[in-house]
Amino acid sequence: MEYYSSHIQNLIEELARLPGIGAKSAARLAFHLINQPEETVRRLADTLVEARSGVRFCRECCTLTDEELCPICSSTARDHQTIMVVENSRDLAAYERTGRYGGVYHVLHGAISPALGIGPSDIRLKELMRRLSEEDVKEVIIATGSTLEGETTAMYISKLIRPTGILTSRIASGVPVGGDLEYIDEVTLYRALEGRRAL
Ligand code: ZN
Repeated sequence: MEYYSSHIQNLIEELARLPGIGAKSAARLAFHLINQPEETVRRLADTLVEARSGVRFCRECCTLTDEELCPICSSTARDHQTIMVVENSRDLAAYERTGRYGGVYHVLHGAISPALGIGPSDIRLKELMRRLSEEDVKEVIIATGSTLEGETTAMYISKLIRPTGILTSRIASGVPVGGDLEYIDEVTLYRALEGRRAL
C-alpha cells in the first residue's frame, strides 16, 4: 500500500539503499529534503553528481583523488619503497591522520569475501602486483582490517608476494576484531603499525 506520493516513495526507496540508512531514517531524510527550498536540494544533487564524476582513481595507488596522481604518490618527501595496503580510502585517511607514516599506500577497494562472492579479481590486487614488479619496493605492510575478510585478504596477499622476496608485514592486533579502522584512535593505529610483524 502506498502511503505517500510516488515521488516521496521513490525518494525514500533510493535513500534506504545507502549504507546505514534504514527505512525510518530514509523517511525522515526524505521529508526533511522535501521541506527544503528547491535551490538547497538542487545544490545537494549537483554536489553528489560532481563528486561522482570528478573523482578518479590514482594511477599508482588507486585511492580516490582529483588528479591523475594523488598528492601522496606525487610527493618526493614520501618513502616510495614502503607500501601500506589498505581496504579503502577512508583507512588511508585514518593512517594519514596519525601523521606518523611516511611511506605510500595501495588501496584495494574491498576485501576478499567468499561469502559475498568477492574474489581476488574484484579488488585492486593486479594493480598492486604490477607496482611490485615495476617499482623498487622494500616492504609491503598489510593493513587490511582484522575482520574475517581482512584476514583472508592479508593471507592471500602474503602468499602472492612471497615468491618476489619482498618483505611483507602485517599490522599488529590491537586493532579490535571486527573493528573498522576508520573509528580507531590514532594512537592505537600507530601502535598497530609500529608493532607489525613479518609474514
Ligand atoms: Zn596515489
